[in-house]
Amino acid sequence: MYATRIIIIGAGIAGLSAAYFLKNAGHEVVIIERESCPGGRIKSIDRDGDIIDVGAQFIHSNYKLTLEFCREFNLESDLVEMKSDDMLMRGGHPHIISWGAVRISTVSLWSQIKLLKLFPPMLRRWKSMALEGWPDLLDMDKLELTTYTRLKLNEECLEYVVRPLMLTYSMSEPEGLSVAYFFRSLQMYLMTGAFCFKSGNDVLPKAMSKGLDIIYGKTVKNILLDSNGNACGVSTGDEDIEGSAVISAIPSPALLPLFSGWNDRQQEFLEEFTFCRFPLVTFECDSLDEITYWGGVMDRQAGDKLSFITYPHVKYNNATRPLYLQAWLLGPWGEELIDLPDDEILDAISTALRRIDSVNMDSAKLISIERYPNTYPQFRAGMFEKLLRFKAAEGFPGNLYFAGDYTEGGLIEGAAQSGYKAARKLI
Ligand SMILES: Cc1cc2nc3c(=O)[nH]c(=O)nc-3n(C[C@H](O)[C@H](O)[C@H](O)COP(=O)(O)OP(=O)(O)OC[C@H]3O[C@@H](n4cnc5c(N)ncnc54)[C@H](O)[C@@H]3O)c2cc1C
Repeated sequence: MYATRIIIIGAGIAGLSAAYFLKNAGHEVVIIERESCPGGRIKSIDRDGDIIDVGAQFIHSNYKLTLEFCREFNLESDLVEMKSDDMLMRGGHPHIISWGAVRISTVSLWSQIKLLKLFPPMLRRWKSMALEGWPDLLDMDKLELTTYTRLKLNEECLEYVVRPLMLTYSMSEPEGLSVAYFFRSLQMYLMTGAFCFKSGNDVLPKAMSKGLDIIYGKTVKNILLDSNGNACGVSTGDEDIEGSAVISAIPSPALLPLFSGWNDRQQEFLEEFTFCRFPLVTFECDSLDEITYWGGVMDRQAGDKLSFITYPHVKYNNATRPLYLQAWLLGPWGEELIDLPDDEILDAISTALRRIDSVNMDSAKLISIERYPNTYPQFRAGMFEKLLRFKAAEGFPGNLYFAGDYTEGGLIEGAAQSGYKAARKLI
């Protein structure tokens, strides 16, 4: 009866993308989703008409498939381009930086000259540094970013160019990351525009989920195999849901426990590959100055533990009072705080936030604390190669396919592409 019924685990953008292509090809598709709504890490909240993205923030102009979905689901008129500046703290002073600026005024002229050294390798490998080009960058992927930066550039570039870029583009401290991943982020910073939806970024997954058969509020506990060892459905603990194939569209740490018979290569990758984990805290508070920039990166050298702050209302161009403020607690501090109760997280960060002059924290009201155990795939040095080896082992068990941002280099576009690629194997 279910000869072509395909089970998809997860209604994030990867699962929805796979479902879109499979359904168009005439397959019956069932998505099992743990939460009560679609979107996964694309999440927005509506606060009396003020929309705040508390998950993914931007769609960049190089997201080909994502932008195609925007057209397909008539969402283009809802897209707005981000025009505001960014801010970088150094020595207790805010420095305003235009989006995509080549000249970074926070560093000395000598460091700016040193930064020019990044252009020859980038220009030589320009095509490979596009989002989908990561499999061609394995040589650069072996190099660790902070060692590379200290060798080629200097400490100042590491602290005031490389660290802010990796915190904002990959939600990770640069320590341990791959140089290939850095160059890809740098190319995105320099070359792409950033867009978001006025109605909140979750408008896209909501539109894509319409008309799909999605079972909400059920967590997949196991992937089921038939007598030939091929995937034939999933179990939620109280129910088995059968199908002729299964697509996993969840982050790799969530996939690992769903099957106990991984082969060595799969097991090694799933155990080793990590996502960054941190809480994202959103407040309403009064502003003391008019805020014209969306994001402000703090200064580690001056003792700031906070990574960066953002003002979501600036993104939507309706910068009136009240002010919304988001605190991003990345790196080891975020790991430390993520599992603590709300009041302990608040205690820890209010001291950090009080160091920011432009915000009146006495008026701050908590809106939400989002805990993301699997926020961004961390492409550490050597991981592109391990990912390729993991993908080459696909087909075991039979009829099980992998999607999710981590399989295609990360981000919304990587997730959308991964869904398309998984679906294509079944069409
Ligand atoms: C705070 C934040 C900011 C970000 N900013 C950006 C940005 O500006 N631009 C950008 O491109 N990307 C950004 N990202 C990353 C982007 O959101 C993700 O790359 C993308 O949404 C991942 O989609 P996915 O479908 O692979 O995974 P997910 O969105 O994680 O979807 C997986 C789904 O599976 C469900 N699930 C998990 N386990 C199970 C289970 N066992 N059973 C059933 N269901 C399960 C989850 O509930 C979830 O809905 C950001 C992410 C976060 C968290």
